[in-house]
Amino acid sequence: MEELKLEPLYLITAKCDYCETSFHTSRVRHSLKKAHFTDTDFYMRYKGVNPDYYVVTVCPNCGYAFTENFSKGLAPVIRTSFELKVVKNWTGHDYGGERNWDDALHTYQLALLSAQIKNEKDRVVAGLLHHIAWLYRDAGNKKQEERFLEHALDSYVRVYELEGISVDNARLMYLMGELNRRLGRYNEAVRWFSRVINDKNIIDAAMIRASRDQWKVTREDMLAAQIELPEEMKNEAKKHG
Ligand SMILES: [Zn+2]
Repeated sequence: MEELKLEPLYLITAKCDYCETSFHTSRVRHSLKKAHFTDTDFYMRYKGVNPDYYVVTVCPNCGYAFTENFSKGLAPVIRTSFELKVVKNWTGHDYGGERNWDDALHTYQLALLSAQIKNEKDRVVAGLLHHIAWLYRDAGNKKQEERFLEHALDSYVRVYELEGISVDNARLMYLMGELNRRLGRYNEAVRWFSRVINDKNIIDAAMIRASRDQWKVTREDMLAAQIELPEEMKNEAKKHG
């Protein structure tokens, strides 16, 4: 039987919200997305083409960059600001084809710029910052990774402060714990993990389990760094262990 080999990328047509140009951009074929490992902060690692490289759509005509989470349209005052900050400096670049790591980073930087000009929700901004941190993780650039994890964490905290403890925030609370842990802010990390574990209103079993796991990892981190454990960790070690 002849083997049918699918190309991992396919083209879709997108339309720019700013200049209304229609253009092509690539997506990764769903059937060929093969995650083989997920990091504890939800970074999915793929074999072959990385779908994360193709999350951002960039208009080749004006530089407006967006993801499917962006709000639609640009208000007049935002159009003016976007024109001054982006369009005037845009020298034209087509990101529609295959992307390498540098291309991917540029597309996220452009999306971040568009998001900031448009005042997109903190959740959207946090996601972009987190993706940039993951790109640097892939490249082995620890310093830049931590810099962007820190920015992402600040944005997630703002999301939490605005949304409060709504039903769906176990994942967000876990993530704030995990980013704090990765940044070496262990006491903060423990605080968030404990909240997910102990809050009776949280029913997200996967996040409770993940928080228990990372609570233990944080304890190991603290012991390794010879940091004195908070009382609850001394007392609850047995309970969680
Ligand atoms: Zn455009």
